[in-house]
Amino acid sequence: MNVADSEVVMSILSDAGHIRTDDINDAGLILINTCSIRDNAEQRIWGRLKAMNYLKKRKKDLKIGIIGCMAERLKEKLLETENLVDLVVGPDAYRELPFLVTEADSGHKAVNVLLSREETYADISPVRMDKNGVSSFVSIMRGCNNMCSYCVVPYVRGAERSRDPESVIKEAKELYDSGYREVTLLGQNVDSYDWINNNKSTNFSDLLEKVAEINPLLRVRFSTSHPKDISDTLLHTIARHHNICKHIHLPAQSGSSRILKLMNREYTREWYMDRVNAIRTIIPECAISTDMIAGFCTETKGDHEESLSLMEWAGFDFAYMFKYSERPGTRAARKYKDDIPENTKSERLSEMIALQNKLSARSKKNDVGKVMEVLIEGSSKRSENNLSGRTSQNKVAVFPGNNHTRGEYVKVLIARCTSATLIGEII
Ligand code: SAH
Ligand code: SF4
Repeated sequence: MNVADSEVVMSILSDAGHIRTDDINDAGLILINTCSIRDNAEQRIWGRLKAMNYLKKRKKDLKIGIIGCMAERLKEKLLETENLVDLVVGPDAYRELPFLVTEADSGHKAVNVLLSREETYADISPVRMDKNGVSSFVSIMRGCNNMCSYCVVPYVRGAERSRDPESVIKEAKELYDSGYREVTLLGQNVDSYDWINNNKSTNFSDLLEKVAEINPLLRVRFSTSHPKDISDTLLHTIARHHNICKHIHLPAQSGSSRILKLMNREYTREWYMDRVNAIRTIIPECAISTDMIAGFCTETKGDHEESLSLMEWAGFDFAYMFKYSERPGTRAARKYKDDIPENTKSERLSEMIALQNKLSARSKKNDVGKVMEVLIEGSSKRSENNLSGRTSQNKVAVFPGNNHTRGEYVKVLIARCTSATLIGEII
């Protein structure tokens, strides 16, 4: 999400005549794109800001700006703290950046954190910042209308807005034409994508199909699906198209229906299991990954064990796991006590990670002996002689391949695996 936003910001600023530099010492303006989802993400930014102060001392006219979620959440604190920042710009105000940079250059604090009900940056062609030139992100919606009680996103990124499907398709086509072979459609809850024009509605399944039809050589991924909204229609669309990747990121958050209710996720453990069963039935080769939170308010040992048993039952291929981190202003912060001691949260998180390591290893071992289609992304990090790419299921595969190059599809026979990687040979 933040990469996609940084690319929009780059586009707006380059249109206004600014030039990007990779050398921090060269920069006259440094913008830090921030995330507020967990407290430690914010703490890292404070650390970086303080560390950057030496640059400001050396170069008097250097301007530093905070953009993104933290700008929205902490405008006052950012402006007050030791003169560290000159610009504070929220996620819906990026079009104003050229003006705000001029303001900052003339010695004023430049601030805009207004949230919008309409802004989707649909007409802006992002300046790609990825290194591989093969896979890229396309944002299809902004904000979120769900009110998961732990989550700050609706407060810092505003209400949900879908982007005009034509602009999504145009952007994906342009990426394909300039050599990209994979796009990931991004939204906080892609399943609630909805665009209405002349009384005709386009839902996520329709949009995904249209993007897949651009070219069979363009792989399409998406994130994030919400278990309460993911429909069988969408699963059938995924199954129908070879180039829609067989991987669904379906954050469970908890395996306990009681905790899910407190989280306001609007589904139960049984509902989640039903959705996993539907995926397994309709798209048997589909990988499923998840997000889990350890130590949410009032979580008992029994609730935690239900999270572990759900993970085991689902056999997730991959998971992001977090300790619950209270976010000021959210419903959980207002209504529930953050009552699980830090060391219990850490223990529960470690148990989840240990279990997931086992499940991820099992998932890779299951691929040994199979022939997988891999989209080459470049040389392997470890050895220039090997190529690296990903399978449709989003697993990294490494293999020798002198006559092949990035952006090509190859069939790879998986011979073995490490904990993170499939290793094989092109056949
Ligand atoms: N829209 C996506 C997730 C966005 S946030 C969804 O609904 O699944 C990414 C992940 O951060 C969440 O899935 C959740 O696991 C985690 N997260 C969000 N708020 C959190 C908090 N306060 N503490 C710990 N983890 C949190
Ligand atoms: Fe946050 Fe829930 Fe929206 Fe995801 S769906 S961004 S977790 S409020």
